[in-house]
Amino acid sequence: MMQLTAAEKTFRDEVRGYIHANLPADIKHKVMNDLHLKKGDHVRWQNILREGGYFGGGWPSEHGGADWSPVQQYLFEQENALAGGPFIIPYGVNMVGPVIYTFGTQAQKDTYLKDILDNRTWWCQGYSEPNAGSDLASLKCSAVRDGDHYVINGTKMWTTQAHYAEMMHLLVRTDDSGRRQQGITFLLLDMNTPGITISPITTIDGLHHTNQTFFDEVRVPVKNRVGEEGDGWKIAKFLLANERTAIADTGSKSRAVASMTRLLQQADHLDAGARFHFSERLARIDFRLTALIALEQRLITQWQAGSQGAHEASVLKVKATELQQDISILFSDLYGPYKAAYNVDRVNKGEFMEAATVADAASGAGHLYLYGRCASIYGGSNQVQRNIIAKSMLAQ
Ligand SMILES: Cc1cc2nc3c(=O)[nH]c(=O)nc-3n(C[C@H](O)[C@H](O)[C@H](O)COP(=O)(O)OP(=O)(O)OC[C@H]3O[C@@H](n4cnc5c(N)ncnc54)[C@H](O)[C@@H]3O)c2cc1C
Repeated sequence: MMQLTAAEKTFRDEVRGYIHANLPADIKHKVMNDLHLKKGDHVRWQNILREGGYFGGGWPSEHGGADWSPVQQYLFEQENALAGGPFIIPYGVNMVGPVIYTFGTQAQKDTYLKDILDNRTWWCQGYSEPNAGSDLASLKCSAVRDGDHYVINGTKMWTTQAHYAEMMHLLVRTDDSGRRQQGITFLLLDMNTPGITISPITTIDGLHHTNQTFFDEVRVPVKNRVGEEGDGWKIAKFLLANERTAIADTGSKSRAVASMTRLLQQADHLDAGARFHFSERLARIDFRLTALIALEQRLITQWQAGSQGAHEASVLKVKATELQQDISILFSDLYGPYKAAYNVDRVNKGEFMEAATVADAASGAGHLYLYGRCASIYGGSNQVQRNIIAKSMLAQ
């Protein structure tokens, strides 16, 4: 397990104290019960973290961050999840922010960075297309130069939170002639530009998280290009590597195991045989979680020391999402017949359920189960992660 220094322990205790003192009860209630969080919930919590100096802590101090190490970043993510704080929405602070301070022009840094840290500008990510997901390099959404603008035509698929976003960071094709990866460019797009249509996609949980976005002659100033024309692939790879400390998200899994343990102790709809059966399944989940946390902590310690294998983040992603899905199956099985009472309206409104019935609580578990299906797809599907692991390990 990770051996924390005295300074890291102090940091962890300070984060824990701040979160416990400042997390609003209504937001915590939604997280603890797996209800749907809206943009306003995320903005409110991220602003509270910002006030305490705990938002964007991994950014360099010259850009408004706190120079956190990977271990500090991890400790923050753990404490936030264990306390019932919402997952930090990554598109601005963990994705495009580091891209802008690493590759952006001074004007881009001045225009965007502070607004990301202050949660004034909400971002979404336009990478995937209907025929370019796993094979992202085959993307076709085109940007043609016209004076000091690019003109975008095409579509992006699965643009999560596009309906909330003021800005999108996207990959476009600026050249069709050479190697596919070389003709891709990274742009920053104002979502209020004429010609953008956002078409909602309702996922299997009955809720609106994601969209298909269409572009019809959308004009983006050339000054919104990050890096040179054709640098998009390199920048995209940098961006995806930045999410590694949060990838296993073991804090939320520990929280779920604790909830299931409580539920098992209290559930009077289960007889002795069922309790025994569920206790055994829960113990197996708990063993796997312990192993995952050990792996996560070993890798983060190695990363902090500057060593990273090509397949390590992929191993974490596969193991973590498989565990997440198995947790959600056990959670909803624990509710027995009540799981059939999935109530999308209650999950969506996220109302305070002061006198929650078992059916209300089962709806949260149903949400975790249904929306959790996509965890093995987004961020690179688990099959594709296995290919990365095989290529890296068999090449040795
Ligand atoms: C809920 C949700 C939110 C998302 N949010 C965003 C977002 O905000 N922005 C964004 O850009 N994208 C987003 N995505 C897109 C996500 O990154 C892609 O769905 C993912 O990369 C898979 O691509 P695909 O859906 O096109 O499936 P495909 O690539 O068509 O794959 C279909 C199936 O074939 C398998 N497969 C494909 N290639 C191989 C191979 N070489 N070997 C073995 N198996 C293979 C896959 O594993 C999968 O099971 C989101 C997706 C979901 C589901």
